[in-house]
Amino acid sequence: MAGRLSRRALARQAMHIQAQVDCAVSNLDSPDEQVRADAVRQLCPCRTHVDWTLERYVLPMLHDPSPVVRRTANFVLTEELDHELVREAQAAHPRERLRHFVWNISARAR
Ligand SMILES: [Zn+2]
Repeated sequence: MAGRLSRRALARQAMHIQAQVDCAVSNLDSPDEQVRADAVRQLCPCRTHVDWTLERYVLPMLHDPSPVVRRTANFVLTEELDHELVREAQAAHPRERLRHFVWNISARAR
């Protein structure tokens, strides 16, 4: 997918992602816990497409004074761990077995 994008399209996408990250990061300081929780969700690597936002921004929010924000950070981390497992399975297993693996993970999350 990403391989088909031109260099200019990639640069545009990177700028767009950076703008989203900047916006979410500034919201992490909001006095409103709901705004902070939303920002944490925006900083999940499945949205930002870069993995460093998890460690740099989501991880510290596990110590937020608000339980709502802490729960969201915890949720994002758990979700990202599942994505990581899927990526590993994808590298290790043929397609058919991956389908079962993903199904098992989503069943566990329910
Ligand atoms: Zn995510």
